[in-house]
Amino acid sequence: MKSIVVFCAHSDDQILGAGGAMAKFAKKGYSVDTHIFSYGELSHPHYKKDYIKDIRIKESEEANKVIGGNKVEFFGLTDGQLNTEFNTKNIYSKIKSVLKETKPKIIFTHAIDDMLPDHRSVRRAVLRAYDELHKEEGFEAEVYSFDVWNIWNTKRDTPVLVVDISEEFKTKIKALHCFKSQINLFTHAYFVNILYLGVYIKGFLYGLRYKTKFAEVYHKLR
Ligand SMILES: [Zn+2]
Repeated sequence: MKSIVVFCAHSDDQILGAGGAMAKFAKKGYSVDTHIFSYGELSHPHYKKDYIKDIRIKESEEANKVIGGNKVEFFGLTDGQLNTEFNTKNIYSKIKSVLKETKPKIIFTHAIDDMLPDHRSVRRAVLRAYDELHKEEGFEAEVYSFDVWNIWNTKRDTPVLVVDISEEFKTKIKALHCFKSQINLFTHAYFVNILYLGVYIKGFLYGLRYKTKFAEVYHKLR
């Protein structure tokens, strides 16, 4: 079975960034796995970590069901400190095990110029693990990056993968709505709305550019 693997820092990044493509590939019969580095506990600093953990796991699994994904797994690193834990928590070999086990055709992860340090850290770790595995065992996959924050990006001129998500756009929005802890949180309402608005704006603008209703655009990293 052909498979796709998504690596991201927090439990809604995968849908915000790649939800349409994930739904599309799942529909085509691909096995779509998501690996999330932290539980995103910083979004709710006033709650106990275990409480947030349970909520974020549940929401991710619901969203995964909506897009037809295979499984969601968490590495359980500390939100906001990902980079410092890569070595102590053996993260490179965990990523390599995932890749060896699933042999994905495509790997999706965060973009090179994402504003959030945790997002950039995830991309660095994924590329390092990929490059090591490529060197050690000749492992090959296509690695693409998605944007969570950037509404529009013109700086990069790497090859792109354009995914027409006109048919999957509604599914992507439905999956985003599973992350109720992010939507309902008063203090983060404004912050989250910007992200959600970005999903519409990006989907629409890329749609215009690539002559379809909605599109997601990915930049090739490897
Ligand atoms: Zn994130």
